Amino acid sequence: MCGIVGYLGTKEAFPILIKGLHRLEYRGYDSAGVALVDKDGNLNVYKTKGKVANLEEYCKDKDISGTVGIAHTRWATHGEPSDKNAHPHYSQSKNIALIHNGIIENYLTLKTFLISKGYEFKSETDTEVLVQLIEYMMQEHKLGLYDAVYQALSQVTGAYAIGVIERNNPNVLITARIASPLIVGVGEGEFLLGSDASPIIEYTKNVIYPEDRQVIKIERGKEIEIRSLDNEKLIKPEIKQIQLSLDDIEKGGFDHFMLKEIFEQPKSLNLCMNGRLQREQKEIILRGIQDYGERFAKARRILITACGTSWHAGLIGKYLFETLCRIPVEVEVASEFRYRNPVIYSDDVLIAISQSGETADTLAAMELAKKQGAFIYGICNVVGSSVARLTDSGTYTHAGPEIGVASTKAFTTQVCVLAMTALALAKRMKTISEEDYHRIVGELCNIETKINKILDQTEKVKDISKIFTYARNFLYLGRGFNYPVAMEGALKLKEISYIHAEGYPAAEMKHGPIALIDEEMPIVVVAPHYKMYNKILSNVQEVKARKGRIIAIVTEGDVEIRKQADYVIEIPETEECLSPLLTVIPLQLLSYYIAIAKGRDVDQPRNLAKSVTVE
Ligand code: GLU
Repeated sequence: MCGIVGYLGTKEAFPILIKGLHRLEYRGYDSAGVALVDKDGNLNVYKTKGKVANLEEYCKDKDISGTVGIAHTRWATHGEPSDKNAHPHYSQSKNIALIHNGIIENYLTLKTFLISKGYEFKSETDTEVLVQLIEYMMQEHKLGLYDAVYQALSQVTGAYAIGVIERNNPNVLITARIASPLIVGVGEGEFLLGSDASPIIEYTKNVIYPEDRQVIKIERGKEIEIRSLDNEKLIKPEIKQIQLSLDDIEKGGFDHFMLKEIFEQPKSLNLCMNGRLQREQKEIILRGIQDYGERFAKARRILITACGTSWHAGLIGKYLFETLCRIPVEVEVASEFRYRNPVIYSDDVLIAISQSGETADTLAAMELAKKQGAFIYGICNVVGSSVARLTDSGTYTHAGPEIGVASTKAFTTQVCVLAMTALALAKRMKTISEEDYHRIVGELCNIETKINKILDQTEKVKDISKIFTYARNFLYLGRGFNYPVAMEGALKLKEISYIHAEGYPAAEMKHGPIALIDEEMPIVVVAPHYKMYNKILSNVQEVKARKGRIIAIVTEGDVEIRKQADYVIEIPETEECLSPLLTVIPLQLLSYYIAIAKGRDVDQPRNLAKSVTVE
């Protein structure tokens, strides 16, 4: 969480930093700040509670000059969102300023030590300890900034990406990371830092992706210097090219990133399947399964671990792998998996799913399984992310940057990757007939067109949404492949409209949630026409008997559920195992329009941040 930006070059840093913060604001937005060394050699820090726009307003009458600076948009972990807890933080002498994404785990011990040395703390953050410790290293051990940062970080445990500048040396910007994302842009006579590539791409496509435990010195007119915390040896910077354009990270005429991303799903799925789905031959060619299919085929179990929406994709993965490949699958949220000492066999395959590839709990779960000999398969969106680096093999979703905090296209592309993986594996293991295989793959080829047909009904979903803004609770019901879709629909609604919602396997309703149903209660039933149709029809009747208000997602031409439901949204017919790719679309639109009707901040819902890089 939180976004960091840095600049050192020949241009005025402030506008570049602010633009960068706006682009990173999806990562955190409870407070924001900037630090610059001005032309007279002052180190100015300006910071304020609220969004980046507040910071801009606040800085209007301030001296914002300077060609070196750092900036931060915060998602608080230690200390409430407030002016004083906002970053950057000054050191005691105000000689150094620092921004930080992550958590300093041993901050209390370090703080006690620094207080005993006479340091006073202005904030409640863990971060301030680090800037004070750097100053202590400089003063006590007579070190320059780079060496002091290096020594301070040797004492620190936790996760961080940091940027540090110094009043007396406007030619230097220091950065480092462990487990939090960081990219360094290397332009013509200028350098940039970003938590992702979005603050950088306007200025350069040449970047360095620092590894964990690397401390980096950026100096005007000099080569970048990198040292690892594990040994003092210099590491040669490896410059890579970012494959991102400015269009990818702008709203392109939509009111919100979330809506843009909902509408982008046909295109993202196309990119996701590109080069993997051979449309004429109705074949799937996946590198991961070509190279490691044997490892999967011999697996005792598949374990799937993820958080939030990715976990819901993982639950669909269970239905896919068990149905198509007959391999037992367990799915668990990463934060539980990593801490409960799970049984992991060396012939297990662990699939880790994360949009950003930086989700802290998912990474820890991967590390745990890796240590115990499991084969690790990663599914993530961000190329070069930590998941991609930690994995034995895997598949990128290629959804393009997802900026809306509520995940949409990341989910459908994750499900698509899981479906392609299960199909390719089933073919290899001969757990699927040739005929079924080609039929389902053929259906994958049609999925983009079918999503477009659902998107054509947006106005209808919008009208339905307006009716339900009064609701304080929602129930989402689904069965089989569409049970996780019900959970995902409920999560979307909670995230952006702040209406309480629960996703339930439809038949379980009788064991509790049915008590909530009255004439006020909206119930979204995901009920496409498959083998459980008659069962879910009975569940719908049970709801109706208690006067619940039913919004049903049904297959085109449905007759029976239509009779019971108050509102009906149709989806085109498809294979059952692919149906989540369609049924989730109206649920995304429904939550979006309910949130809009309630006047919510859809792209930046309260308390949430896009990529959860803290535990
Ligand atoms: N732990 C720091 C704080 O609470 C940084 C949080 C973040 O990564 O946004 O200020």
